[in-house]
Amino acid sequence: SSDLSNVFQMSLLQPLWDSLRLHYKDYLRSPLFPVILTVSSYFILCVPYVVCDLMGDKWHWVQQFKIQPRGRPTYSTMLHCAGVTLWNHLFLVFPASVAQWAWRPPVDLPEVAPTLPEFVTGVIGNLLLFDFQYYIWHLLHHRIRWLYVTFHAIHHKYSAPFALATQCLGGWELLTVGFWTTLNPIVLKSHLLTTWAFMVVHVYVSIEDHCGYDFPWSLSRIVPFGMYGGPSMHDVHHQKPTSNFAPHFGHWDRVFGTHAEFCFVNPSKDTK
Ligand SMILES: [Zn+2]
Ligand SMILES: [Zn+2]
Repeated sequence: SSDLSNVFQMSLLQPLWDSLRLHYKDYLRSPLFPVILTVSSYFILCVPYVVCDLMGDKWHWVQQFKIQPRGRPTYSTMLHCAGVTLWNHLFLVFPASVAQWAWRPPVDLPEVAPTLPEFVTGVIGNLLLFDFQYYIWHLLHHRIRWLYVTFHAIHHKYSAPFALATQCLGGWELLTVGFWTTLNPIVLKSHLLTTWAFMVVHVYVSIEDHCGYDFPWSLSRIVPFGMYGGPSMHDVHHQKPTSNFAPHFGHWDRVFGTHAEFCFVNPSKDTK
């Protein structure tokens, strides 16, 4: 019976974790791995939305879900945003990650995988903590004019968001976001597998927030009771940047009275 209880105690994720450790140990231990993971998942997860934008009216079924039907991005706005993202990563995020080598030795991979409940609560816990931190940061960068103009205005260049606008960010904002997504899993003592999953999920939900489409499978439609904001809520923030400061969930905007329901303010303009 002790064998049987061992089987039940062993995580469902153990086989996945074992094969990752066995085959990719050296890559996974590199301090650059989280950067490469997040940048590559960013561009890969943007692809479906970019294709929807490029196909435009040829895909009627898709365009019925476009939040601002006349706010489709042009080639040049998409290229501009992809360029900003690459520039930031080459000249800020990459050097910052190399510098980490100096004070943080390569991590050791633990033998035991997280249990499934640990994994799921870890990812959600990291998202909730980030949601709170970014809410405060975001509110301050809208309420204090100097902070807005200096650091956050670049992200509001487009009032009709699209996937590649997600990381159209100033260097200070990207470094702050990167700092929290690196530090939070350490503070919450998350397993490395949980940490990496959180990073990819965080990239996905950030892209979904900005994709410009409210698909039936958007998280805000799957998560009940308006607990999750999602694309339509963040679209309001880009149309009318006085509300909806939380990046993912709905509770902080409700608590602090900055929540606004979706309304159609400016369907025609794409750029300033
Ligand atoms: Zn903003
Ligand atoms: Zn945004």
